[in-house]
Amino acid sequence: MPEINDEGQELLLKARVIIIGAGGLGCPLGLYLAGAGIGEITLVDNDIIEISNLNRQIAFTNDDVGKSKSETLKVSMNNLNPDVKVISIKDRLSNENISELFYKKNLVVDCTDNFETRHLIAKECLAQKIPMSFGAAVRQEGQTAFFLAGCNESIENSNKQKKPCYACIFPVRPKGNIISRCSEAGILGPITGLISSIQALNVIRYLTNQKVSETLILWDGLSFLEIKTTNSQNCPICS
Ligand SMILES: [Zn+2]
Repeated sequence: MPEINDEGQELLLKARVIIIGAGGLGCPLGLYLAGAGIGEITLVDNDIIEISNLNRQIAFTNDDVGKSKSETLKVSMNNLNPDVKVISIKDRLSNENISELFYKKNLVVDCTDNFETRHLIAKECLAQKIPMSFGAAVRQEGQTAFFLAGCNESIENSNKQKKPCYACIFPVRPKGNIISRCSEAGILGPITGLISSIQALNVIRYLTNQKVSETLILWDGLSFLEIKTTNSQNCPICS
């Protein structure tokens, strides 16, 4: 592809990406990013594979039940592409480890399932000027957005238009179905594939200097809805 070429492939090889969550979104994302040839990918997840995960966590098989998610996804990614350096962190993201884990990363991909962790990620991304790809999926619904808050202050200042962060759009825990955990609410497997594929596309496009979609994209089970995102002056994180 002319948009990638050798130059783009080199950019991907030099990139360091961290994926928070090696579950429904993290599995397809990890496989796509390994296949794309991203040089270093860190996986953060302290969870264990359960049989109920297998409808959507496509890097795992029946034989993997009971094993670590981040370790097993690392094996699947390296089976696909042994040249990718995959670092597995069997831990939860916390106030204590986040700043070291995000240090010198080019991009953070949120594949978690809770609001508090997303605020933690958004805050650290702003502090370290790293873009954040956000994804969420439950039942038959999903949403994704790419946030560039603080990543290019010179452009923001010249346009007098600050970029939004995750908390500009979701300042407080959203009400309704979309934030329910999959383990409680249930989920159709392909919805995580749909949302994580959009995330993976944005990650590859961003790292190869292509324009990325900055709108909030929602899938309600039947169709897409796209919502323009703007910076909030009352944002609990970036204002
Ligand atoms: Zn904000």
